[in-house]
Amino acid sequence: MSVRVLVGAQWGDEGKGKIVDYLMHDAHVVARFGGGPNAGHTVVIAGKKTILHHIPSGVLHPGTLCLLGNGVVIDTDIFRDEIKRLEQGGVDCDGRVFVSPRAHLILRTHRLLDRIAEEARGDRAIGTTGKGIGPTYGDKVLRRGVRVGDLEELEALADRVREEVQEINRIVVGRYGHDPVSMEEVLEEARESRRALAGRVADVGEMLRERIRRGDDVLLEGAQGTLLDLDHGTYPYATSSSAIAGGACTGCGLGPTLIDEVWGVAKAYVTRVGNGPFPTELIGEEGARLREIGAEYGSTTGRPRRCGWFDGVAARYATDVNGLTALAITKLDVLTGIDPLKLCVAYEIDGHETTTFPDSAARLARATPVYQTMPGWKKSISDARRLEDLPEEAMRYVERLAELSACPVAIISIGAGREETIAEFGRIDSIPGRS
Ligand code: GDP
Repeated sequence: MSVRVLVGAQWGDEGKGKIVDYLMHDAHVVARFGGGPNAGHTVVIAGKKTILHHIPSGVLHPGTLCLLGNGVVIDTDIFRDEIKRLEQGGVDCDGRVFVSPRAHLILRTHRLLDRIAEEARGDRAIGTTGKGIGPTYGDKVLRRGVRVGDLEELEALADRVREEVQEINRIVVGRYGHDPVSMEEVLEEARESRRALAGRVADVGEMLRERIRRGDDVLLEGAQGTLLDLDHGTYPYATSSSAIAGGACTGCGLGPTLIDEVWGVAKAYVTRVGNGPFPTELIGEEGARLREIGAEYGSTTGRPRRCGWFDGVAARYATDVNGLTALAITKLDVLTGIDPLKLCVAYEIDGHETTTFPDSAARLARATPVYQTMPGWKKSISDARRLEDLPEEAMRYVERLAELSACPVAIISIGAGREETIAEFGRIDSIPGRS
């Protein structure tokens, strides 16, 4: 049995969906521990492409228990629609998809505030997806949020919602000059949420602990990526929850000693959506080329992603801050035909060279990458299934990524398809790790 955590090792969109799907074969239970409906995993159900925002893609594996932990924030409309689409596609969700009563609800107040506050930021926009996630976590910290379990007590909830709506309206009307939110509409939304979640609320933490005691294999799935983590990312250009491995404990109710492995997913290059420092960013033609070949457009928003060279300093930081035990490298195929390749091995900041990731976005914005150049490869690698199928240059490149990240590479992904994967675990583990 094993309890694995899987996190994004960069700024999100690393291809976690594919790797989760791959690792799911071994798991009885998959749980999300943070974020909201801003995650976007593309799955194919009954020949139809669907993007799942809330429910872990493990739901497609029959019998797998799919849980949303207390660290997740829930949009019940999106949740209910996903269940509906899954069931229409023949995926039975009954008795296997549950939400923690401690998870917080995203209400219309949160969505509105998210949208108008981001608009007001103008060119200082954080790049939120406008789904109300930040304001919901804000209310959680201010201890005035509404939790899934509160829906059981709609009477008591009415007073709380009244206070919340008044508070939000002070900002919505006073600061942004927007029409006030209607108290009745928010309450109706809460009633609707109760209906939508009927039969799907359970003590997720206890369920997980019980399954772990029984010896089940568990996968705890992170959202976004390490460099977007609220504490350890490039604040304030960050997400509003814990995206690192530690978040799996607080976001599900598990002790750290229960975790056996921590997997990081990283692209063979780097992308970032929205504003914020990005030292290895490629502006102009080189960046556009990566974006086109890698189809680097947001799966939820369609926004073009910023693209750049692999950043070894950030990768090493991700290994350390998560305690990574294995890396999955995705999209190696996208680099085919690019020669030479560059890898960032250090930063120069204020005249000093460093391999330590800066503790502030302002310092990171002053970092100039120090690059190492490596030869690229020309032949398509999408048919490679074993390490020796890779051209020498691709192999050397992945070895160098492992070295810079100080973490063994356990999976190499060379295409979007499930079969386009090199996963000779025992052997790839021997790609250099901690030096
Ligand atoms: P996530 O949020 O981390 O799951 O990442 P996204 O789903 O936003 O982005 C991953 C995209 O890249 C999806 O469309 C995948 O199908 C695709 N993808 C994943 N791995 C690979 C790969 O190795 N090569 C290529 N070309 N595409 C990949």
